[in-house]
Amino acid sequence: MLKLFCMNKYYILKNLDSLFNEIPNYVYIVAVVKDRTIDEIDLAIKGGIKILGINYVQDGLNIHKFFKDKSELHFIGHLQTNKINKAIKIFNKIQSLDSYELAYEINRRLEKENKFFPIFIEINIAKEKSKFGIDPDEVYNFAEKLKDFNNLIIEGIMTMGPNLSDKEIIRKYFKETRIIFENLKKLNLKNFNLKYLSMGMSDSYKIAIEEGANMIRLGRRIFEKIE
Ligand SMILES: *Cc1c(COP(=O)(O)O)cnc(C)c1O
Repeated sequence: MLKLFCMNKYYILKNLDSLFNEIPNYVYIVAVVKDRTIDEIDLAIKGGIKILGINYVQDGLNIHKFFKDKSELHFIGHLQTNKINKAIKIFNKIQSLDSYELAYEINRRLEKENKFFPIFIEINIAKEKSKFGIDPDEVYNFAEKLKDFNNLIIEGIMTMGPNLSDKEIIRKYFKETRIIFENLKKLNLKNFNLKYLSMGMSDSYKIAIEEGANMIRLGRRIFEKIE
């Protein structure tokens, strides 16, 4: 018998159904697929997901094989310079530009191929030692320096935010990220076409949307059974 999908993962469709009912329709949902199987990802796409978020270039190679025609693929992990060539082949966007050196190296490779590529700046909004991203105090200076990189199209701002249980502290950091996003938009910087504010994960997406996110990145909310 033809097995359309794995019925014991049916809750993924239910999760998505309730999610689409819950969030405003201008908000893009990125399904974060770390540690998920091809079957699970396939089901998420059947449930309406159009963007997959990928943390590792190695995962991306496999996912690209299966899903490149069915979904946009966004890289959301820390990109090492020796993986840039692969990354710009398989991903549609890189959400995690976290250093000047990386911008330089990505641009250099794009220039050679005469290609343009959409990039988001990752901000380490709570200045956490354990996280990558541009320091919020440095971000305007950083953004200004990207004028030298004509093959990058800076389309968005991404942040992880701290993993805290205090929702009001999380809200404060999302507010700060929103302000940076709006300020950068107003500056009309060269190579910038800011459209996306990517913030909010399974525990924080409601607050993120209230604070202006128009892209959220969800793993557990989509792929784990909600009791
Ligand atoms: C894992 C991950 C997410 C999603 O996390 P959940 O809490 O499972 O929703 C979002 N963004 C990044 C960068 C991640 O690594």
